[in-house]
Amino acid sequence: MERVLSSVLEAIGNTPLIRLNRIAEGSPRPVAVKLEAVNPGGSIKDRVAVRLIRQAEADGRLKPGGTLVEATAGNTGIALAMAAAVMGYRSWFVVPDKMSPDKIRILKAYGAQVTVVPDVPKDDPHHYQAVARRLADEIPGGAYMGQFLYAANPEAHYDTTGPEIWRDTGGHIAAVVAGAGTGGTITGIGRFLKEQDPGIQIVGADPVGSIFTGPVAPFKIEGMGEDYYPDTLDPEVVDRWIAVSDDNAFAMARRLAREEGLLVGGSSGAMVHVALQVAETVERPGWVVALLPDTGRNYLANIFQTETEAL
Ligand code: PMP
Repeated sequence: MERVLSSVLEAIGNTPLIRLNRIAEGSPRPVAVKLEAVNPGGSIKDRVAVRLIRQAEADGRLKPGGTLVEATAGNTGIALAMAAAVMGYRSWFVVPDKMSPDKIRILKAYGAQVTVVPDVPKDDPHHYQAVARRLADEIPGGAYMGQFLYAANPEAHYDTTGPEIWRDTGGHIAAVVAGAGTGGTITGIGRFLKEQDPGIQIVGADPVGSIFTGPVAPFKIEGMGEDYYPDTLDPEVVDRWIAVSDDNAFAMARRLAREEGLLVGGSSGAMVHVALQVAETVERPGWVVALLPDTGRNYLANIFQTETEAL
C-alpha cells in the first residue's frame, strides 16, 4: 500500500492530543495539549493558509502568478509562504517589529519578502494591517489574504481543529483553553464543540495588556492578544477570559520543554498556565484541553535565549 502525499499541504492537521504529566501532577482534572507544532509549517496557522488562498482565488482577488500579501505576527506568514511555494505564488509579509527574529528568518527561507513596521496601535497608518492592505493594492497581482477579515479562518477550525479535539477525547471535555489573535481558533473550535455539547467551557487566555481582559498596553507574547475586536472573533462563544502575564507565559513555555519534552512558544505557555487554573475550578468532569499554537524553534533567540546561550 503506497501512502505518498501529493504535497506537503496534505500533511497539515490531525495533530496529536497529549496528556500533561509532571506539570499537571495533582490537578483535579486531567490536562491535555494539542501540539500544533507538528504541522509542517510549525503552527496552527497551516490549517488556515490554504483556505485563505482558495477564498482569494474564488473571489477573483488572486490570479495565477500573483503575490500573497498579509499582515502577520509570523505564523500565518510561514503557512502562506509554504503554501505559496507549492501553489506557485509569490508572497510578501508585513510584520510588527516585536516579532521574533527567528520567524523573520523562516519567512525569508521560504522565499518570502518581509517588511518590518513598528508595533503601533490599530488606528495608526503604519499599523501592519494598514501597510499590508496598501501594499496589496500597490503591487501588480497583489492580493490581501485578510486572516482578520474572512470567515475562511474560523471555518478551518470549525471543520478540522474542533472535530479532532472532540474525536480524540471521545467527547469527554470539561473545558478548552485557546488564545485569540484573529480569534479564528477559539471561534471555530468553540462553535463546533458547543454544537456537540453546550456545557463545554470555552476559555480565552489573554495577555495582560490585550483588550479582551483589560486596558490596552504593550506585551511580549506573540500571536495572541489584540488592541481591537477582529471580525474573525465571535466573543459570544467565549465563556470566560483569563489574563496571563508575559513572565508567567514564558516561564511555562520553558517548563514545557524541560518537564514534558514539548518545545513550544510563548502563547502555548500562556494557554497551559491558564489551563492549570481552569483545571482547579471547573465543575464539569472531563479533559481540560489547551491549544499549543506553535513551535519553540520560533523563539530560540528570545524566550529560550538563556538556555541557548549557555551552550
Ligand atoms: N499563538 C500564536 C503563536 C499564533 O501565531 C496565533 C495566530 N495569530 C495564535 C496564538 C492565535 O490564533 P488565532 O489567530 O486563531 O486567534
